[in-house]
Amino acid sequence: MKYVSTRGSAPTLSFEDAMLSGLARDGGLYVPETVPQLSAGEIAALAGLPYEEVAFRVMWPFVGESFTEEELRGCIARAYAGFGHDARAPLTQLGPNHFLLELFHGPTLAFKDFAMQLIGQLFQTALSRSGERVTIVGATSGDTGSAAIEAFKGLGNVDVFILFPHGRVSEVQRRQMTTPPEANVHALALDGDFDDCQARLKDMFNHFDFRDGVRLAGVNSINWARVLAQVVYYFTAAVSLGAPHRPVSFTVPTGNFGDIFAGYIARQMGLPIERLVVATNQNDILHRCLTTGEYRTDGVTPSISPSMDIQVSSNFERVLFDVYGRDGKAVAQLMDELKTQGGFTVSQGAIEGLRALFGSGRASEDETRATIARAQETMGELLCPHSAVGVKVAEEQGIGATPMITLATAHPAKFPDAVEAAAGIRPDLPPRMADLFTRDERVTRVANDLGALESLIKERLAK
Ligand SMILES: *Cc1c(COP(=O)(O)O)cnc(C)c1O
Repeated sequence: MKYVSTRGSAPTLSFEDAMLSGLARDGGLYVPETVPQLSAGEIAALAGLPYEEVAFRVMWPFVGESFTEEELRGCIARAYAGFGHDARAPLTQLGPNHFLLELFHGPTLAFKDFAMQLIGQLFQTALSRSGERVTIVGATSGDTGSAAIEAFKGLGNVDVFILFPHGRVSEVQRRQMTTPPEANVHALALDGDFDDCQARLKDMFNHFDFRDGVRLAGVNSINWARVLAQVVYYFTAAVSLGAPHRPVSFTVPTGNFGDIFAGYIARQMGLPIERLVVATNQNDILHRCLTTGEYRTDGVTPSISPSMDIQVSSNFERVLFDVYGRDGKAVAQLMDELKTQGGFTVSQGAIEGLRALFGSGRASEDETRATIARAQETMGELLCPHSAVGVKVAEEQGIGATPMITLATAHPAKFPDAVEAAAGIRPDLPPRMADLFTRDERVTRVANDLGALESLIKERLAK
């Protein structure tokens, strides 16, 4: 299996090299040359299997020669062993034909653990084979960073630096990043918003001297291996509700378009997904784009669902690549317009393609709070604000004969203030992390400046 860049001019890579490099050298994102298919019989055979076995069968065709069957199975087993639920991604029922896919039983209580725990193991396996050392730098709106730190802390061949927007992550998110004592962990609070963190990260990847000098590796949701790990739970959920014999629909709380893109890949592999719905908060560039055809940034407004406070959704580029007929030059031009003019207009053909693939909706802050309160009153379900955005949009779509599965992307205890304000109940952290608020924090504040960041990283690595 080979991976190509969405901008058409970077070298084709293996799964392992696409995973280790993250962003392609032409600024694009890696996607598989072709998407492997699972037949209806192969999908039906997933019913009743443990999560780990489904994970192996879904991911194996994408991994090619990069890992042996035994290595991949070992990585999967270690990745999910620390989850707080044996089903890993259990389904609960919210209402008639409306289901909630609980993706928050990992070590940092958000769905990011599914991908991050696995790529921690895959990096470790690949690097200990080659004896190489890499520097992981990630940008986070809160959950990616804590998941990355949890996955990579203490690993021998890796240093991990996480940029988060100063003052814009929840206290639980911040503490999960600043309290691990391992020396290879570096939490950096940047003076800016998440888009600034993501922009500086891209700048580092595009500065080849620095990139090669420190052997930069990326684990943001642009990393193909992360998308792949997330494809798995679309299969386990759909099969539990009767796929491939009956179709299902999904609503996905969306920020960087990584999680929903995994659903798109599951559908391309042959999983019968009827509707795939993008749910955004008030930072609704994706909903506006799907409605109007204009992809235009207008600044981030902080919300109670901070992991979705994003205006430039990196993974959207991957689906643009497909709806533009895999024309890397066309995608490169759109991304150039985005950078220089703050947006672009999607062509008529491409917007029709996008609308055939995705539904969309948005939830305001008031609607999100009202959904948290109502879910608590009528279903006894305490939702995190991100999951509430999903539930509101799913209900507004109208839940018909096809089961609707809304992804619950984080545990309510990760956002206790917002949940308490809306539902009047303060969610407790699971006992295994009850001492989070008394651990010591370690964090470095940095300016929104490429030079300053690069010097800091080099200095830390020299120690
Ligand atoms: C990251 C995150 C999202 C958004 O996921 P994307 O893959 O960026 O679209 C939604 N909810 C929570 C809790 C998250 O951590």
